[in-house]
Amino acid sequence: MTTLPVAPDAFHLYDTTLRDGAQQEGLRLTVADKLKIARLLDELGVDFIEGGWPGANPNDTAFFAAAASGELELEHAKLAAFGATRRVGGKASSDPLTRALVDAQTEVVCLVAKSHDEHVFRALRTDLTENLAMITDTVQFLTGEGRRVFVDCEHFFDGYRANPSYALEVVRASADAGAEVVVLCDTNGGMLPTWMGEIVSAAGAVGVDLGIHCHNDTGCAVANTLAAVDAGAMHVQGTMNGHGERTGNADLVTVMANLQLKYGWSVVPHQNLAKATSISHAVAAVTHVAPNARQPYVGHSAFAHKAGLHASAIKVDANLYQHTDPTLVGNDMRMLVSDMAGRANIQLKGDELGFDLSDREVAARITDRVKQREAAGYSYESADASFELLLRDELGELEAPFAVQKWRVLTSSEPTEEGDSEATVKVAVGERVTSRVGEAFGPLSALDIALRQALTPAFKAVEGFELIDYKVRIIEMGHGTDAIVRVLIDTSDGDRTWTTVGVGTNVVEASWEALHDAYLWGLLPHHAAEPAGVR
Ligand SMILES: [Zn+2]
Repeated sequence: MTTLPVAPDAFHLYDTTLRDGAQQEGLRLTVADKLKIARLLDELGVDFIEGGWPGANPNDTAFFAAAASGELELEHAKLAAFGATRRVGGKASSDPLTRALVDAQTEVVCLVAKSHDEHVFRALRTDLTENLAMITDTVQFLTGEGRRVFVDCEHFFDGYRANPSYALEVVRASADAGAEVVVLCDTNGGMLPTWMGEIVSAAGAVGVDLGIHCHNDTGCAVANTLAAVDAGAMHVQGTMNGHGERTGNADLVTVMANLQLKYGWSVVPHQNLAKATSISHAVAAVTHVAPNARQPYVGHSAFAHKAGLHASAIKVDANLYQHTDPTLVGNDMRMLVSDMAGRANIQLKGDELGFDLSDREVAARITDRVKQREAAGYSYESADASFELLLRDELGELEAPFAVQKWRVLTSSEPTEEGDSEATVKVAVGERVTSRVGEAFGPLSALDIALRQALTPAFKAVEGFELIDYKVRIIEMGHGTDAIVRVLIDTSDGDRTWTTVGVGTNVVEASWEALHDAYLWGLLPHHAAEPAGVR
């Protein structure tokens, strides 16, 4: 463990989510998406935000134009434009792509340069001297235009192995021409941490500030990044949530948390690190890539404990069972209610939800009920809302705001314009009984519409409820028995997201149970966002 109390001066966190991260399969970011992500990155406290490749990609050109026109106000981060060295045989000053970099009006330009001799020969189809001239000319032109220039040495590590003296010459030429940082890129992502030190140190002997850019093809992007930092790299490139092509880039969130909490460096203010979980999830909402529950530090499961045996000890001292305090990254310790759950686990979970389960008899009764339900196919690990309903029911604290008297759904092979399914739901709120019909494609949507309409007159809040995820799983309960279906529904009201579970031999029945509980939990007096009838 390194003991430096603060990050060395001029240590950079450089985010490339908007450029390299956007290479991820299936990811497409609009200009508005990019602006949103850039604001989140600034809030997190990264030093540089690489916005894209102006001139090469119209969307990126539009992003820089929007940023320059005042649509993006950054408090701390500096915007960087990415581009390549000038064309073979040309001049940087007259190369349209180099000019586009100037037109992007960013303080920083990051240039990609070839540093592997075979790539010079076969991709650029030129000789080694011309490649160096291209670097020198482009860096000098851009610094002459008042830009701070960083150089990304593409395929540096493979290049160093093939031809070390040439790879180092590229580093030297970049520095001599005026590059502020020379970034060593593991473009193919094939490196291992134990190989990093020697090569980064060799490049460090050139006497320039080095950066590191790792891909995760060996599952070592973060470890390689740290190894490079140990060997002297002062500038770290990565992406939010590890977005990137193939297996992704180094996850900047993990790198940042490691440097801050393990190395003890102050790379961002502590209050910013405490926003890491919410910012990571906010970026996931923009990229439409589901957050990875097992992401280090900020994942939903990152501090989730399951074993009943641990739970009793966690009550004594939580720190014995976690590598760091989850609140430092804005996460929470979470107790999973599972079939392994013992009484201590249930008591902790109750605490977390604000219920006092210190009475051993009550806790034992609830534990028995959870075990029975789990034997029947229920799972409360993620379905916190259903667990709370069960808890309230056992404690006699469940005052249901509505009662469903009847529901029915029909699905036809001959769809109409409204859909293929028609649902009827009859609901009583106090004395008043309302019946509504919903039509949609799919029985769950039809039931959702009918239930929502039946509840709306009494509870305006349901208008804001949205089903955001629906998962169906078939569970084999054992040989010779019917398969059971488990449905999980995530519902959101814009502020909160809650999960409910339903189980049955029939998928519609299981879906209805999860749907019903979703509305019930959302409308509990304790939770309802606003009283009935008030907007
Ligand atoms: Zn890359």
